[in-house]
Amino acid sequence: MRIIRSNSELESLHSAGVGFIYNDFSGRGSKGKDYNVLHIASCRWVVRSNVNVPKYFFSNIDEAIKWLLRNRGGEGKNWKRCGTCQAKSRPIFQVSRESKSLATVESTALRTGVGVLLDDLEKFEYRFQSFKKIDYESYPYCFGEFWKWKLRTETKGEHILDAQHINETYDRLSQTLKIWQWHRPCSFFKLAKRLKDALEKMRDAYNQIRSYSLLEFSEIPNEALKLVWHELGCVKTVGGKNHGGYYLVMATTKPLMFLWGQTLAFDSVVRGCMPRFSILGLGDNYWSFKTWKKVMLKFQESLNQQPEVVSLFKEVSQKEYGTDKNIPYGQFLDIYYWVSSPCARIKP
Ligand SMILES: [Zn+2]
Repeated sequence: MRIIRSNSELESLHSAGVGFIYNDFSGRGSKGKDYNVLHIASCRWVVRSNVNVPKYFFSNIDEAIKWLLRNRGGEGKNWKRCGTCQAKSRPIFQVSRESKSLATVESTALRTGVGVLLDDLEKFEYRFQSFKKIDYESYPYCFGEFWKWKLRTETKGEHILDAQHINETYDRLSQTLKIWQWHRPCSFFKLAKRLKDALEKMRDAYNQIRSYSLLEFSEIPNEALKLVWHELGCVKTVGGKNHGGYYLVMATTKPLMFLWGQTLAFDSVVRGCMPRFSILGLGDNYWSFKTWKKVMLKFQESLNQQPEVVSLFKEVSQKEYGTDKNIPYGQFLDIYYWVSSPCARIKP
């Protein structure tokens, strides 16, 4: 173990990218133990820190663990590994001081030929907090509360569209959709019954898709997915159901984003800021089932190619919702693109 004496020493260890750095926030005490974190030297969080909080350097993981166990106690009790870099001896991604996160994400994307999901990882948490402020103005009818309630409800066997919960789901969902003016230009009252019917009709299909995350989108049974798309799509679309499933995209995906968390809501702001994926018709208000699927598959592929984005989302989900199992990937991406727009301060 070596004590890092200065910020410039910390910076050069980070740039060199070899070894491990421990943030000794609370020493042997347990107050503030959440900040006692072990990182790989190249972790992006190291760039943002300084030696005002004591930092220790270890040349390898064995040395670090041995010292921590002896001097700071068991892992998970008084210290932990970073949620982003996981203090894995083989780093998931390396950020040198020159390249920064943007270049890393871009090069990953270029190598693999998928879109860059987040042009700047650091911005996500800022945007998440900005969105939360707006969203929670309408507490308890906001995404955060809806999602927490869904997580509490969807344990063994039970889910938010089953006979026992569907009324509460409808109440919570419709209050929130009203605030976001999902019904425009219709009156909410006109759409209410159709929305409720749609939720009833998609009960089984929803139950089939709900355990798949965006990372596994391609494995979802097509019939279930299609049924959900058609049922929600025709609630707001003049002319109702149609063969290709051409519906107002945001009208369809907004309720589904709340219920499932894995799709983005794709309003015009988001469609304007997200990667193009070389898919035609992305800018249109109406999407077919095929277009939506293509876009979702591209997001799946990109997420799987950019593990740094997945770890970041897991970290935020753990912090906000106490779990890194059921993560609203689609909603997180939606926030990132939506808040990026200067006009997004005002609700759509
Ligand atoms: Zn880290």
